[in-house]
Formats: sequence, C-alpha cells, structure tokens
Amino acid sequence: MPIVPDTKNWTWVLDERCPECGYDSAAVGLGDVPGLVRANAAAWPAELRRADVRERPDDATWSPLEYAAHVRDVFRVFDGRLVLMLEQDAPAFANWDQDATAVADDYAGQDPAAVSDDLLAAAEVVARRFEEVPADQVHRTGLRSDGAAFTVETLARYFVHDPVHHLHDVRR
Ligand SMILES: [Zn+2]
Repeated sequence: MPIVPDTKNWTWVLDERCPECGYDSAAVGLGDVPGLVRANAAAWPAELRRADVRERPDDATWSPLEYAAHVRDVFRVFDGRLVLMLEQDAPAFANWDQDATAVADDYAGQDPAAVSDDLLAAAEVVARRFEEVPADQVHRTGLRSDGAAFTVETLARYFVHDPVHHLHDVRR
C-alpha cells in the first residue's frame, strides 16, 4: 500500500488526550510550548543517525528521514502562521498539503545530516517566536483553509502535538 494522504482533522487534540503518543493538550499552556519544541528537536539528531533512517517500516509508513523532514517543515510552516497572526488581523492560512510536499521536495532523498541541522534551526526559530509573543497578543486569531479557527494559544497547543506524535511514530 502506498503512503495514504493524511486528511484527518487533527484539531481534536485540543479536546482529548492523544491515545497514540499520549500528548495531552489540556496539560499544556502556551508557556510550555517553547520547551516542548526544543526538547522534541533535541531528540531528532539521534533518530537521523539510525542505520535504518531511510527505511520505511512498511509501504504505508514514512521512514525516520521522511518524518524528520516533515517535522522540520512543520516548524517552518507554523512559524509562518504565527507571524501572520501577529502581523494581520484574523488571517487565513494558505493550505499546506504535507503529503504533496513530501513528494515534491523528495523527503526520501534528502541528506539526514542536513535535515538534522535544519530541523534544529527551525525548531529554535519557532520556539523563540512563541516565547516572545507579548501577553496581550495571545488571543489574536487565524483561520485554516478548512475553516478551523485558532488563537495564538490554541495554535501553539495544537502545533506541538505534531512533532511529539511523529517522534513517537519513529520510535515504536
Ligand atoms: Zn499523538
């Protein structure tokens, strides 16, 4: 079976504990997110040095390299979304097709060492961006193309699940 595009709406993670990775957004505040991002990023270089870094566990599951390239891009995409929310009133986010991006950018063919460096750098940028949001800006809003509405705070708590969940994916 080929990679099946992930079309699920993951916004439920704001209401429920994730049964797979254990992430519990109810226990996470905006102020926790930069530390969670940095801790998550720090774990990826070891995964990217694995001998099986390019191997898919099965045909329908990304390799550790592909997951890491995705997480690097998640850090970048959500940094962009946060910037938009801070600069514009209730901006609409451009749709990001993560599965099309994985193919178009050849995640499977990327250099694990470069992905490792870029993931760490992207994590630090987005961690700092969330860290530096002024207290009076945390309720600014943004809209995803499917209509899901976020505040800076819910975006942070939603976003950080993705790298946490994918680290769990590559370790199981
Ligand atoms: Zn999860």
